[in-house]
Amino acid sequence: KQPVLNVESLKTYFYLNQDQIAKAVDDISFSIYPGETVALVGESGSGKSITALSVMQLINKPGRIIDGTIQMDGEELLQLSAKKMTKIRGNDIAMIFQEPMTALNPVYTIGNQITEMLRKHKKLTKKEARLRAIELLQTVGIPRASEVFDEYPHQLSGGMRQRVMIAMAISCEPSLLIADEPTTALDVTIQAQILDLMVEMKEKFNMALLLITHDLGVVSEYADRVMVMYGGQIVEHAPTKHLLRGTKHPYTKGLLDSLPNLDEDVDRLGAIKGTVPPASDFPNGCRFSTRCPYVMEKCTQSNPELEQIDTNHYVRCHLYEDGRNSLD
Ligand code: SF4
Ligand code: MG
Repeated sequence: KQPVLNVESLKTYFYLNQDQIAKAVDDISFSIYPGETVALVGESGSGKSITALSVMQLINKPGRIIDGTIQMDGEELLQLSAKKMTKIRGNDIAMIFQEPMTALNPVYTIGNQITEMLRKHKKLTKKEARLRAIELLQTVGIPRASEVFDEYPHQLSGGMRQRVMIAMAISCEPSLLIADEPTTALDVTIQAQILDLMVEMKEKFNMALLLITHDLGVVSEYADRVMVMYGGQIVEHAPTKHLLRGTKHPYTKGLLDSLPNLDEDVDRLGAIKGTVPPASDFPNGCRFSTRCPYVMEKCTQSNPELEQIDTNHYVRCHLYEDGRNSLD
């Protein structure tokens, strides 16, 4: 099977000033196949959003993609003209952000924005676009869709606005949907509804879904495969079940340990000490070495490679260099 998206050795750097370079994405490779949900996980500042924006080619100065390839259905996106890339965005790849209020224009009605999108990418008459927009609003579970069509974004709840964003995202039936923290701004009950809806749409339109989140709870529920990011690199990559039950990277373990446990009353958030180092100031050696409870001498000297240590299970950590297979 051909991947929808294939990213190879991607590097996106930010040139802050003469001798300060933030290596926000630093040599990342992955593929996503049709129908799959792949999660990209990590704390804020780990490079998840920059990875997504790189795929979309929405990186602004002083940032720049300096190396790598990004192929979509076999086509090299980094060689396309700006005009062609604009066509790919929306048509083939759609992206949903955390706060739909910033993506929706407050001065236009919902209907206006969806029909504009439809008419830009598909040759529809005004009347056809209106019918299609209302149909899309119904598809994403918006009640009284023909009334909502004439409403403004501020008249809708956060959850309804995110449904509108999903409607716009699927309007051109993209083969890849990227969702960057799509439910972080929403109430817990609404979060589940929106995630369920995205998975339902993914299946209905046979899309691939790249789900960016800091929440391993969401991952366990929705993702087929997980890539854990730290310091601009993938540090662990495995099918969800393997990653959760046979966690190998100390950072992944830290993330799991910080999940609030429903059986316990204690607040365990913040189990990983310290914060993500800025991308312009990574420590020598392993980028997690300043926070890792397993740190050894060689960790401060060289950055480990991402190595396969089990079927489909990759980890970037010196602990596994001598045939060791688990963290215990
Ligand atoms: Fe920790 Fe060393 Fe592994 Fe880095 S390489 S995660 S510092 S044990
Ligand atoms: Mg982000």
